[in-house]
Amino acid sequence: MAELLDVAIIGAGPGGLCAGLYCKRAGLSVAVLDMGLPGGQTNNTEAVENYLGIKYIEGPALAQQMAEHCASIGVETTYANVQRVSRDDEGLFTIATEDEPIRARAVIASTGSHPRYLGVPGEQEYRMGGVSYCATCDGFFYRGKDVIVIGGGSAAVEEAVYLAKIVNSVRVIHRRDQLRAQQVLQDHAFAMPNIEFVWDTIVEEIVGEGGRVKGVKTLHKKTGERGLEECHGVFIYVGNLPNSEALRSVCELDENGYAVVNLMMETSVKGLYAIGDVRVRSVRQIASAVGDGATAAVAAVAYVNSL
Ligand code: NAP
Repeated sequence: MAELLDVAIIGAGPGGLCAGLYCKRAGLSVAVLDMGLPGGQTNNTEAVENYLGIKYIEGPALAQQMAEHCASIGVETTYANVQRVSRDDEGLFTIATEDEPIRARAVIASTGSHPRYLGVPGEQEYRMGGVSYCATCDGFFYRGKDVIVIGGGSAAVEEAVYLAKIVNSVRVIHRRDQLRAQQVLQDHAFAMPNIEFVWDTIVEEIVGEGGRVKGVKTLHKKTGERGLEECHGVFIYVGNLPNSEALRSVCELDENGYAVVNLMMETSVKGLYAIGDVRVRSVRQIASAVGDGATAAVAAVAYVNSL
């Protein structure tokens, strides 16, 4: 790796890889840093049917194709456990890692976000068999079926409404008797005939058979009654957490920890960009991450060439 990179990209998800592709093709020295497999969360997605030009592809296969495309033009993907990004008085960035620090003229943070897990038995076991954290990605697979949504925030209610237009029935299981979601979303949900709310109830376990979800075991908090709610799929929305720890001391984050960016994906710090799920108001799609990656790369190339 060059001693001083033109652009360091943190995170090898679709956004980061796309940014790497654009920077490399613009003739810059670039490296994509990640701790895991290139492709990010795409590797954990059952199938992708909403990426334009590809009717159907398994998530890991798409991730591999993206990585191979980048490798074929010489985009370097390097293992790095990134701890912190900082910028010195000369405007150069240092990326502190568990090993040697990496220095760059510009940085694109594509560190993603992660769903807050419910933390009950069965959640991890059925990750590829009916437990999902993304209705836009997976809702289509439950056409005509019965699903459960867990959570009472805006994400849970918004996704319940989205699912209700595709599936047979949606049961929203919430631990209190009042939703946290924005009122307008609640109004939409209450108006849908196939959404039912199960109040004051916590999910204790997700159960299944043959690798597929069959239902959830519940506990009613007020009556103490235990039950089994049968379903084909479980969508969990108990909060989403940005992977923005490394940016905390360098650029502005919103109250939920997402990086604040402008239309060119530039953060509050010149030469530092944030793309995909780690930025504010992301729609959390492969297509939007790729678009962000292209946008940030075009901006970063112009920035580096102006130095
Ligand atoms: P959120 O607002 O933090 O809501 C999380 C929900 O999950 C809450 O209802 C919470 O219950 C529940 N929950 C948390 N831990 C749980 C557990 N262990 N077991 C059961 N339930 C649990 O998160 P979010 O819905 O992802 O939204 C995050 C932010 O994005 C919010 O600021 C939201 O307004 C915003 N957002 C906006 C839109 C929109 O504008 N259309 C859409 C999505 C998200 P309690 O209510 O009991 O705490």
